[in-house]
Amino acid sequence: MYSTIIIGTGFGGLSAAIKMKALGIDNFIMLERRSFYGGTWMQNRYPGAAVDVPSPLYSLENEPFAWSQLFAKRDQLEQYTRGLIQKHSLEERIKLNAQVVEARWKDGHWQVSLTNGETLEASSIINATGPLSTPVIPNFKGKERFKGRSFHCNDWPADLDISNKRVAIIGSGASAVQIIPAIAKDVAKLHVFQRTPHWVLSRPDIVFPGWFKKCLPNKWLYGLIKWSIYVHHELRVLAFKYSKTLLKLVAQKPAERHIAKQVKDPEMRDRLTPDFLIGCKRILMSNTYYPALQSEAVVLHDKTQGIDEINEDGIVTTQGEQIDLDVIVYATGYNAADSMISYLVIGRHNLPLNEQWKDYPRAYLGTTMPNFPNFFVVTGPNTGIGHTSAIFVIESQMRYIAQCMQLLHDHPTLSIEPTEYAENEYSNMVHSEMTKTVWYYGGCQSWYQNASGKVIAMFPGFSFTFRRLCKKFRPEHHLLEDTAK
Ligand SMILES: Cc1cc2nc3c(=O)[nH]c(=O)nc-3n(C[C@H](O)[C@H](O)[C@H](O)COP(=O)(O)OP(=O)(O)OC[C@H]3O[C@@H](n4cnc5c(N)ncnc54)[C@H](O)[C@@H]3O)c2cc1C
Repeated sequence: MYSTIIIGTGFGGLSAAIKMKALGIDNFIMLERRSFYGGTWMQNRYPGAAVDVPSPLYSLENEPFAWSQLFAKRDQLEQYTRGLIQKHSLEERIKLNAQVVEARWKDGHWQVSLTNGETLEASSIINATGPLSTPVIPNFKGKERFKGRSFHCNDWPADLDISNKRVAIIGSGASAVQIIPAIAKDVAKLHVFQRTPHWVLSRPDIVFPGWFKKCLPNKWLYGLIKWSIYVHHELRVLAFKYSKTLLKLVAQKPAERHIAKQVKDPEMRDRLTPDFLIGCKRILMSNTYYPALQSEAVVLHDKTQGIDEINEDGIVTTQGEQIDLDVIVYATGYNAADSMISYLVIGRHNLPLNEQWKDYPRAYLGTTMPNFPNFFVVTGPNTGIGHTSAIFVIESQMRYIAQCMQLLHDHPTLSIEPTEYAENEYSNMVHSEMTKTVWYYGGCQSWYQNASGKVIAMFPGFSFTFRRLCKKFRPEHHLLEDTAK
């Protein structure tokens, strides 16, 4: 029996594994459903893929890297991920092609079932299956009839030569905004299907000079850069949460100036301007998106010319136009809100987590749930942060998880779960604070909300507030039981 099973090998899983090793807890395994490890940045290989939070901030604590530019491209993130795995000797801990289908609390420990029929046992589980890991393709009528190539941008085929192809990209969110400029110059035609326009800010990217790159891995310099970027980003919360006027001043006005500068045609500008307050959906950053949309090969279809159906040859628009295509790219997002954990979890008294979460997903510190002892969810409910790095949040959760792990290590028959009261208090606080945020009142529908419209992805405040909450394990908020009794 393992002491811990870590499910997922992205930055969440890696961060947990590094923490476990630092605590001297060695008896753990990492499970990964794919044939390769590393999560988001090993999986997403679409043209133009890059981080949209400055890289010194989007990196693990005490793990500096000589980034080539402020917003690293995916190749460097792959290099970074591989480096971490090698440095901490994690490869030997990882079991690939190991998709978890069920985790069940039985006889005081967890039983984890895989698709191949295997069952593993552990006293605790750290779930790090990723908030944006399971792609979603809407059920467009006739989509299976298309004879060309079609795929979600998460699964960009390695052998695809896009040059001179007639391509459609469905979606205009974070991934599409990166793909469109990267392929517009190579394709014969690119049809962009935009349901909702997003706010786009300019991207202040900087290519680091050689001497700076050489200095960057210095722990002190890296820390200084990281924390100054952190503070700058954190100030955004004042706008996201505390002041609509400030939000308009520091974000919406610059976004309006950006589009005015880059899109001269008023009709086109109109079609690309959102009707909701900036920040309500993820703010995108690009200097090349608007110019690409106006290039000769690109045709923008807004919601007035949406998709009626897909047939053998391409897409039929709602206006009856047949668009013949070679490739359809679905940049249609992820199942972030309504399936936060990608397998069945059964807790005490045979209670499925889905049942406990039937109204909405909720967890103490976004991490633990009553009735699910020794089960920790990385990037769980309301841990999303629109204004800074997801890794900062992951590492905040790790502070809480590590203290629980230390307790479990010191008392191997212990089980830990939050009390219902503590979880309730926490969730009530989160959702009451949420009403002050732009994600709640901004007038949009986004993946931050679940089907019922509740904002379940975001933490409504400063990321340092979340970190402070995670800093100290509070025994009075937990039910501690000896499973041997
Ligand atoms: C294209 C893209 C760009 C992004 N850019 C940014 C950014 O710029 N800044 C930012 O802060 N965040 C960004 N994010 C969010 C990103 O999700 C987080 O930054 C971070 O990578 C999450 O790490 P993770 O380990 O939690 O999840 P992931 O990296 O998604 O890893 C989860 C892993 O779990 C595995 N898994 C899932 N289910 C199972 C199962 N049942 N059994 C076994 N294994 C399973 C998956 O295969 C995957 O490898 C981006 C996300 C995407 C998709």
